[in-house]
Amino acid sequence: MSKKYPAPIIPVTKSYIPPLDEYNSYLEQIWEDGYLTNNSSLCRRLADNVASFLCVPHLELVANGTLAIQLAIKALGLQGEIITTPYSYVATTSSILWEGCEPIFVDIETDTFCINPDLIEAAITKKTSAILATHVYGYPCDVVKIQQLADQYNLKIVYDAAHAFGVKLFGESLLVHGDCSALSFHATKLFHTAEGGAVVCKDSEVIKRIFLMKKFGHIGEEDYLDIGINAKMSELHAAMGLCVLPKVGDIIASRKECSGWYDKQLEGCSLQRPVPPVGFEYNYAFYPVIFSLHHVMIRVRQALLDNGIGPRRYFSPSLNTLPYLRQELKRACPVSEGISSRVLCLPLFMGLQKEEVEFICNIVKQSM
Ligand SMILES: *Cc1c(COP(=O)(O)O)cnc(C)c1O
Repeated sequence: MSKKYPAPIIPVTKSYIPPLDEYNSYLEQIWEDGYLTNNSSLCRRLADNVASFLCVPHLELVANGTLAIQLAIKALGLQGEIITTPYSYVATTSSILWEGCEPIFVDIETDTFCINPDLIEAAITKKTSAILATHVYGYPCDVVKIQQLADQYNLKIVYDAAHAFGVKLFGESLLVHGDCSALSFHATKLFHTAEGGAVVCKDSEVIKRIFLMKKFGHIGEEDYLDIGINAKMSELHAAMGLCVLPKVGDIIASRKECSGWYDKQLEGCSLQRPVPPVGFEYNYAFYPVIFSLHHVMIRVRQALLDNGIGPRRYFSPSLNTLPYLRQELKRACPVSEGISSRVLCLPLFMGLQKEEVEFICNIVKQSM
């Protein structure tokens, strides 16, 4: 049994919480309008502002990032097998299963920890309908090679872009790649609405389907396009987003500064880190470090916990080992399983102090 710890003094992340009077000014507007949900003025304003911040043409706000993935699968009509990454948060895999499809795991690259495009072709069968890959930690998948494969085999592409808010590749939003990208605005993410998310789509027909599907499939008051679900964002959540969005630049800048402190402190420590590809503008969503051996990671984690620091094993377990998968789906993914067993994400959030980073790094170095 692992020891019980109080909430860490320095957790892995902290939500940006706006000044209460700022949030209140939006609440006053809601009280005046009398509308709490159903795509009212704050949701519409947030959708416009987020789309222009991200430089994407079509975007639908939803209640959370998991529903964003599920709606993308549904709206694209995906069936059968979906090729996916084992190195992500569990929602990537569970959404595929929840939509009645089968996750076919393809191992990851050793530099970006994203799906290895050179292994995808061998996993394609007659039943394959799509590739669903995660831009893990906000590092981009090989979007060019994946698009070539999708074109060649007539597959759809969905990106789990829960970590990729504001990431750019060659000056362009990473979210323009693939047929759909799913974003999460959960409180632990860099930009958040407490709970929330969005879907970005290439095709305006697909975004229209998502617009209808997220509100039960209603067209008008009595007609239905298709099976829908309730995935609407509320005005109260949109109000939080409107407070946080103008701060995203500061949030990213602060995270960048903290990441620089970590880089400097941990220089020469023989810790593996994801390698940024050329043309990449990062959002500093995470600070993962990979230790040489599992037991070293466990020892460092213990030392950090003993000192009130709460690193997290993002992402473990490797999703191809989830207990509820049918045996045939548990294909070996040695790179992902290896990284999963040795990774820790260190605390990273706006306002983390330089002395705190030094304190954390000293513990890491002493217990490695
Ligand atoms: C957070 C996250 C999700 C789920 O988003 P929610 O908004 O919490 O539903 C999905 N995929 C990845 C990779 C995530 O990190």
